[in-house]
Amino acid sequence: MENFVDQSQPDALFPLKGDAARGPSAAGTIRGDELLVWRRALLRRGGGAVDLDWLLEMAGGLSWSQMQSVFLHPERSYRLDTSLEAIETLWNHHLQTDVPLQYLVGLCPWRDLELEVGPGVLIPRQETELLVELALSLMPAAVHPRPPLVWLDLGTGSGCLAVALALAFPESSGWAVDCSDLALARAETNLERYGCRNSVRLLQSHWWQCLDVLQGQLDLIVTNPPYIPTSLLANLDPVVRQHEPLLALDGGEDGLDSIRSVVAEAKTYLAPGGLLLMEHHHDQSNAVIDLLVSVGLSQPQSHRDLEGILRFVSARQVAIPGMQFSPFP
Ligand code: GLN
Repeated sequence: MENFVDQSQPDALFPLKGDAARGPSAAGTIRGDELLVWRRALLRRGGGAVDLDWLLEMAGGLSWSQMQSVFLHPERSYRLDTSLEAIETLWNHHLQTDVPLQYLVGLCPWRDLELEVGPGVLIPRQETELLVELALSLMPAAVHPRPPLVWLDLGTGSGCLAVALALAFPESSGWAVDCSDLALARAETNLERYGCRNSVRLLQSHWWQCLDVLQGQLDLIVTNPPYIPTSLLANLDPVVRQHEPLLALDGGEDGLDSIRSVVAEAKTYLAPGGLLLMEHHHDQSNAVIDLLVSVGLSQPQSHRDLEGILRFVSARQVAIPGMQFSPFP
């Protein structure tokens, strides 16, 4: 089963939503105690309860709170959108091949969104949700911005940040850029899924290569570039290492190759007062701040993730004298 995943095939391996889920005995009810016996049997084969319950929710439609009810009231019956056999097939496949459950289901909850994901495109990470929160809290409403707000998601991947920004700033004009065809296709699907395809332009570019038109235009740049040092890739969980795109993870010898490319030209692309927001590895904060300072960006600042790790940086293009900022409401 090695290489089971065809990296060129962007679709879920076992799409369970929609027509495929309406096959024979696809949905049905099950008593809580039977479900718990089944769950224990699956966990004895390996894997973790959190992952299995995630699968029960995503593939079977049994929410976390319903699962708590199963524990409390095993005598009751519960409804599943998909047969236990189908869920078990996914679980076995995951255990045997390490294919991420998100790829098997084809979906990933992220922030308040449910995004389509598949092989060849990085699964959105929970910590990256905070980049959106930072954008919301730090993004200035300049006194005299050129409306509309112009933002760029550089290395958009699944389009998670682009969708979130398009929804958060409905009047804005966004750009979602990636060098990967698979990523752009997936980002397009996700933008369409949330009705914001028309306000975001998708463009293929290796970092700044094809973005000349945006020079001096961007009020906001968000980016989650690959930042893992190459020597550490071998230590990653096989679920990540064997199945997620190295293109989105491998940051070169010191992990900073892509970050250097982004920072080197960010200043050229930011509008006066514009904001750069970037995610980085757990130990890169000082190095990235130094890079921001070296290119002359102002107000470099590091920000913590939910575990308290310095995981993000922000910096600004100097504002036009007299320009004032106030946070968005
Ligand atoms: N945070 C991701 C991981 O640890 C890495 C994402 C990235 O390199 N941008 O898997």
